[in-house]
Amino acid sequence: MRKTVAVQILLFILLSSLPSPAFPEQEALFYKKRDNDEVQCELCPHRCMLSDGQRGFCRVRLNRNGVLYSLVFGQPCSVNVGPIEKAPFYHFLPGSKRLCVATAGCNMRCTYCQNWEISQTSPEDIRSYDLPPEKLVEKAKSFGVPTICFTYSEPIIFYEYMYATSKLALSEGLKTTMVSNGFINQEPMKKLLPYMSAVKIDLKSFSESFYQDVCAGRLENVLETLRLLKKEGKHFEIVVLVIPTLNDSSMEILKMCQWIHENLGDDVPLHFTRFVPAYKLTSLPMTPVQTLEKAHSLAKGCGLNYVYIGNVPGHMFNSTYCPSCKKRIVHRSGYEIKELHIKKGKCAFCGYDIPGVWE
Ligand code: SF4
Repeated sequence: MRKTVAVQILLFILLSSLPSPAFPEQEALFYKKRDNDEVQCELCPHRCMLSDGQRGFCRVRLNRNGVLYSLVFGQPCSVNVGPIEKAPFYHFLPGSKRLCVATAGCNMRCTYCQNWEISQTSPEDIRSYDLPPEKLVEKAKSFGVPTICFTYSEPIIFYEYMYATSKLALSEGLKTTMVSNGFINQEPMKKLLPYMSAVKIDLKSFSESFYQDVCAGRLENVLETLRLLKKEGKHFEIVVLVIPTLNDSSMEILKMCQWIHENLGDDVPLHFTRFVPAYKLTSLPMTPVQTLEKAHSLAKGCGLNYVYIGNVPGHMFNSTYCPSCKKRIVHRSGYEIKELHIKKGKCAFCGYDIPGVWE
């Protein structure tokens, strides 16, 4: 029998009312105190209601004596350096490196998660490092990378850590980026955006039932986040992982592209990425390249200027083409930049403005 998102959350919270091991205690930023030491988390649209001793659906926020704490502040389980193209960001400092950071936990339950070993686990069940914001920023500087990227699991659930680090990083001349499912309430997102240089949103499908059944999320909240990013003038890119039989119908992709065109404009970079079987979804094949090409063609037909095919190394639509003169202005091969013809944010051939963060 199909479980609704609400039932999944309730079951998880009831089952997670176990004594918690010692964690660094950082009070959460967005929550309300209720009667009898209950609290309601206001960070993401799940709005978990937690009794004393209970954790949220994301596994990393705990009510202790009527105060909500983050259990992962300064405790990343994954820290490494990699190309910005891997995010993927294609309109953000091409060819540069980023320091990638993630903690345990997630506020969704995608059955095909590529990073399930860290996203679908609790912080006590995985090794973590002691890296408060000051140490993390120092690490990025010592590696000589221009950007810290919050990624892999779901940065929303380690909001306090991401927020404090981003503020500090900005004051130290670094940039920050966030790779997210976009399932966050408006107020925390508005508070974070001034300190975020760019955002990548995984738009998992354009179907409310897919979001509820496959991911334990809600489409409408993610669309609200996208509208907010547009309104705030933040650079953002959208990635759609195209999964055979689940979200690959031409009708769904067409509706998605029409919505993007009408609500976000022509210039938001849109990546259609190839699915590789993972986690609980190993029965499906990889996405045929023709399906991705069809999605690309539908998006272009809707008037979107920057549409990419990802996870197919060497494909011509890994590269960026100028919408005006049609010349190839960024030649990518895998995560490598072979040629770059953008100068001061303009096409080096015809001078057309190319949206993004280039310097
Ligand atoms: S961030 Fe975690 S605790 Fe807060 S509402 Fe979302 S899932 Fe629940």
